[in-house]
Amino acid sequence: MSLDTPTLRALVAAAAEQVVASTAELTALDQAIGDGDHGANMKRGFEAVLSKLDMIVAQPPGEAIKMVGKTLVMTVGGASGPLYGSFFMAIGDAIARGRRLPEDLADVFASGVDAVSARGRSQAGEKTMLDVLVPVLASLRTEPGRSDLAQRIRVVASEAVERTAPMRATKGRAAFLGDRSIGHIDPGARSSCILVHAICNTLEALS
Ligand code: ADP
Ligand code: MG
Repeated sequence: MSLDTPTLRALVAAAAEQVVASTAELTALDQAIGDGDHGANMKRGFEAVLSKLDMIVAQPPGEAIKMVGKTLVMTVGGASGPLYGSFFMAIGDAIARGRRLPEDLADVFASGVDAVSARGRSQAGEKTMLDVLVPVLASLRTEPGRSDLAQRIRVVASEAVERTAPMRATKGRAAFLGDRSIGHIDPGARSSCILVHAICNTLEALS
């Protein structure tokens, strides 16, 4: 895989379209343990990305992914805007600084995960998007280069989402619910899973 313009366009478009298509599901999840805006927040942000797609993919890959992040920061709102914004800006920055794909995929992804953690002052186990992003990173570190990597990562992400249900939220709005957050899937964990699946599906289709 090289991050040429058609690949980049396919990846960004698939991720954005999948998130937009999942608006109702993300809304329902956030209605259970938050304020119900995660679907609308993500839809607004990724529609803005789609509307700028030509401009985004005209940039070198690192700059393009940074532009995705900046667009999300400017448009998403809520806690998830700065968090996903930081995620994509850090990934774009790692690529712009010379990290290569696919060789450095785990390190590039780690830059994004670290940025979320720093911005959110959060870590895995607190019932957030990090409960998907951290296991996906661990899997990228331990299983690099396998031919069924996309399939493995999809399973890891889906299982990680399910594991957020029994967790008690200690970060974000859901933390206000305390024990009442238990028994519900975290909306941001689900949106991270949707993004990861879209990227895996696209890479598989292109390979
Ligand atoms: P808000 O909580 O402001 O309404 P959203 O509903 O768009 O924003 O996003 C909520 C999601 O953001 C949560 O489900 C969780 O995954 C994620 N989140 C919230 N706070 C944090 C944090 N400190 N670190 C990581 N993720 C967080
Ligand atoms: Mg919300």
